[in-house]
Amino acid sequence: MSLGTTIEWTDATWNPVRGCSKISPGCKNCYAERFAERFRGVPGHPFEQGFDVRLVPEKLPEPLRWKTPRKIFVNSMSDLFHESIPDSYILQIAEVMRKANWHIFQILTKRHDRMAKLLSGPMKAFAAEPHIWWGVSVENRKHGLPRLRKLQKTHIAVRFLSIEPLLENLGEIDLHGISWVIVGGESGPGARPLQPDWVRSIQNQCSRDGVPFFFKQWGGTRKKVSGRNLDGRTFSEFPTLDLDNPLNYPGREIPLNPQPAFVPIAALTPRGAQA
Ligand code: SF4
Repeated sequence: MSLGTTIEWTDATWNPVRGCSKISPGCKNCYAERFAERFRGVPGHPFEQGFDVRLVPEKLPEPLRWKTPRKIFVNSMSDLFHESIPDSYILQIAEVMRKANWHIFQILTKRHDRMAKLLSGPMKAFAAEPHIWWGVSVENRKHGLPRLRKLQKTHIAVRFLSIEPLLENLGEIDLHGISWVIVGGESGPGARPLQPDWVRSIQNQCSRDGVPFFFKQWGGTRKKVSGRNLDGRTFSEFPTLDLDNPLNYPGREIPLNPQPAFVPIAALTPRGAQA
């Protein structure tokens, strides 16, 4: 586990897999690939094998050792549902997430078909866990919106979207059953530009539909300078539970099986763990 993440919407990263391969336009300037390939061939470095997919079983138990509750981005340097990762290994990762229930786990994929298949079959029980959030990337209408639709059709307690890098105006999007939306522009060399109106459109739709909205960054080649301010505001919203009206929870609009009991971040405390 790494606590040194600069990813604004999480506290830590956990990488029991390293490496991935490109699957859609959103991958073009993949940060993880750029980082990993810098160390290809460096003896003893975690990315000695560059961006080649590699299982890292010694990392599996790390969240169980981390006693303070954290939001943990799973496989920030890979895609959990990459075709090279065996089902049995994904199940081991899921089992760790289920046991370490004082944390929140955030899983993000572009391999939506495989995720849906597993969460509707052998991993059904994990889909209902409110501390495990399952999300898909959306970069444009053609590739991203089918992922969104697949996510909506899968019985999951907490579904989210990472709309990054946003490459075009998505227009009207159906946020039915979505509990959280993150938006961001691309950063680094060759970053593709992000138009403010594209972001405003999504923010307005989230506001209208009561979906928490997190604006991560404008991106560009000078990400720190461009910042994350939208029309004078910083948007850093996360899924929350309306305690007075627990049924007023975006993720419940699509029937879930079993019905989740959503737990707000603030209420999460280590169970059976020493702080
Ligand atoms: S799926 Fe994610 S990690 Fe894999 S190549 Fe694409 S952007 Fe990179």
